[in-house]
Parts: sequence; structure tokens; C-alpha cells
Amino acid sequence: MRVTILTLFPQIFRGFLEESLIGKAVEQGLLKVDVVDIRGYASGKHRVTDDTPFGGGVGMVLKPEPVVEAVEAHRLEKLKGRAVLLTPRGELFSQPMARELSAFQQLLLICGRYEGVDERVTKLVVDQEISIGDYVLMGGEVAAMVVVEAVARYLPGVVGDPDSVAEDSFSSGLLKYPQYTRPREYRGLEVPEALLEGDHRKIERWRRREALRLTLERRPDLIRPDRLSSEDLEFLKGHL
Ligand code: SAM
Repeated sequence: MRVTILTLFPQIFRGFLEESLIGKAVEQGLLKVDVVDIRGYASGKHRVTDDTPFGGGVGMVLKPEPVVEAVEAHRLEKLKGRAVLLTPRGELFSQPMARELSAFQQLLLICGRYEGVDERVTKLVVDQEISIGDYVLMGGEVAAMVVVEAVARYLPGVVGDPDSVAEDSFSSGLLKYPQYTRPREYRGLEVPEALLEGDHRKIERWRRREALRLTLERRPDLIRPDRLSSEDLEFLKGHL
């Protein structure tokens, strides 16, 4: 996958693209990332990228020309791509959306700043508007990182064991069960007995029930009865 990030602050992405699993994926060529400075597409001696809003009001608005021209210059027609604007008014980002985006060959992420982006950008070059949550950030850069991390987990080879992605919270339709590692006892807290006996059926059952219990307690909205077994339903009934 090729990810093209359009931003006024390219430096923000330096550490992000060099470290940890994303850094490794970039190094191994599993993920190609171009960070494009929108200012490079602004005209005039001062390369101004913002202006006051028509109709008055607070703040500045990102001008349409540099953004549209940056998208047009970096959109690769030969690749199946999607241009995404990060914006608080967009569709709420989710795990299914991350999986869906991972199927595209090019993902173009437009990071807004100031009071937002001129509406004509959306009309001319944006395929989808995404919000990462009901709060307002200073700019779209952190939101773009969130999208890149969540999407990259679905790209072959990025996460060592594909089972770990399938078992993630939300992927399985439930929150993830609690995890433990050594030592067996820490400050008086013991690892649950079911995980220590090496009985795989017992371990699976314990994990499934913990995932169901946690999801019922914290995110009942995620529970889809049609995706549950009769044993799951029986267990949940006992906890209502
Ligand atoms: N005035 C805008 C509003 O109320 O919707 C907020 C603009 S915000 C200060 C500047 C930029 O940050 C936005 O253009 C967008 O790119 C990004 N941004 C802020 N919150 C976001 C969110 N929840 N999800 C995605 N992008 C966000």
C-alpha cells in the first residue's frame, strides 16, 4: 500500500514513520509513505495557504488551490485509491473501516488545520470524510497517524502473527479478554488458574467468557446476538 499524507507540518511524521512496527513496515517496503507539504503547492512569494472565511467569523480557512493541486499531483491513477479528508464532521472511524481501507492500493490522507478546509476541496477531490472521535484536535496529523496505524495492522506482514489482528478488540466483535504474563504472582495478585494448567479448551473457554463479560459490562452496544453461540448466550443470561 502507498499512503500519501498531505500536511502543512511534515516534520510531525518523522518519528512516527521511523519507529516501531510502522518504521519496520516502511523499511521492509510493506508500506510506502510519502509526506507531502501542502505549502509546496501554494503560489506567490510567501506561499500563503490560509485566508479569512467569507461571511466573517473567527480563524482562518485552508485555501482550496494548494490542497486540490497537491491531491491531483500525488493521486496515482494507476492505483486503486481513496482520498480521505480528516475532519470532525466525518464518519466515525472504526475497525471495519480500517479493514475496508486496507484493500486500497493508495490512501491519500488530507490533514486540515486552522478552522478547517475550504468546502470545494471536499467537492472536487475527496472520496470520504473521516473523524477519529467526537472531539476537536488542532490539526489532522494525529488523526492521520491513527488511520495509518489501524489500517497497517491489516497489511500482510506488518503484524508478525495475523491471528493477533483477528483476535483484536472489535475485530472479533467483542473486546479483548484480559492478558497476563510472568510472574505468576505480583503484589498479591495471582494469574487466573484457568490459564496455568495448559488445558487449551479450558483456556479458550475462560478467554471467551472474559471477553463476553467485559463487552457486556463496558460496550453492550457491540454485542450481536446473531454472532454468538448458544453457550455464549447462556453465559450472558447469567450476567444480566
Ligand atoms: N472548526 C472545525 C470544526 O469545528 O469542525 C475544527 C477545525 S480543527 C481545529 C483543524 C483540523 O483538525 C480539521 O480541519 C481536521 O483536519 C483536524 N481534526 C480536528 N479534529 C478532528 C477529528 N476529531 N477527527 C479528524 N480530524 C480532526
